[in-house]
Amino acid sequence: MSGVITRFAPSPNGRLHPGHAFSALFAARYARVHGGRFLLRVEDIDFTRARPRFVEGIFEDLRWLGLSWPEPVLFQSRHVRDYCRALMELRRMGVLYPCYCTRREVRANTPPDAPRDPDGAPLYPGTCRARHDDGEAVPCGDIGWRPGKGPMPPAWRLDMDKALALAERKAGGALFWHEEGAGPAGESGRVMADARRWGDVILGRRDIGVSYHVAVVIDDARQAVSHVTRGQDLFHASAIHRLLQVLLELPEPVYVHHRLIADEEGRKLSKSAGDVSLAALRARGVRAEDLVAMFSDLP
Ligand code: GLU
Repeated sequence: MSGVITRFAPSPNGRLHPGHAFSALFAARYARVHGGRFLLRVEDIDFTRARPRFVEGIFEDLRWLGLSWPEPVLFQSRHVRDYCRALMELRRMGVLYPCYCTRREVRANTPPDAPRDPDGAPLYPGTCRARHDDGEAVPCGDIGWRPGKGPMPPAWRLDMDKALALAERKAGGALFWHEEGAGPAGESGRVMADARRWGDVILGRRDIGVSYHVAVVIDDARQAVSHVTRGQDLFHASAIHRLLQVLLELPEPVYVHHRLIADEEGRKLSKSAGDVSLAALRARGVRAEDLVAMFSDLP
């Protein structure tokens, strides 16, 4: 066995669609051709959306595709304390601050021509950035004190300038990651991890305590994932992940971003758009082999 470890890390917020099938097969085949291992991780920290029936659906769909994985499967919901610990560490480093802005306030304080992040959302205007030393609030504690408004759980934002300055000091220069796949503009090889484009991202969500970015880097390290294979929609988020890996002193995986599967009109498939699920395809008599045969560019 080689040291290659890949993973498929779906969020059980809906049924899987052909885009997930491609991604899962990509991860499994990448591990296989490199003599490595393929792992499954259920990213279910968002308890407002995750449902047990979707977890069952993930297992069913992946088995239908002919995939297998070592047990026990890692469920992120069982490790929230670790993600909180990482937030505390970032707080101690002085790069995380509580943010009490409501969505409406963020909108009201954001000029229409504000710069946008790679997903197209306007950057946070920095209203709460001065609150670094504000009050007693701690990440994942359920309450903070918003001056003039009383108790309220804050969201926790990364102070991007401070975080980058600290990380660049630790790394001895600008941050990069190694891309073995390709980004949306064909980026590959040594890619500059330009996290500044995301502004002060939320790392501790007000509703669920933590965020995807923190959980994913902790677990890729916990599971010793050597090659993070995933869709190009997460390509730019890798800059945030690289930054967090440096700050939290986690090992650096190689990234392998793959193309996204589009529907007939060329739109990206998504769980919410009522796209055709693998379960629906199966019910219509489509065989897994037929679907796999359509993916001619798998490893
Ligand atoms: N859980 C994420 C999703 O379903 C994928 C995370 C990742 O591959 O890094 O979109």
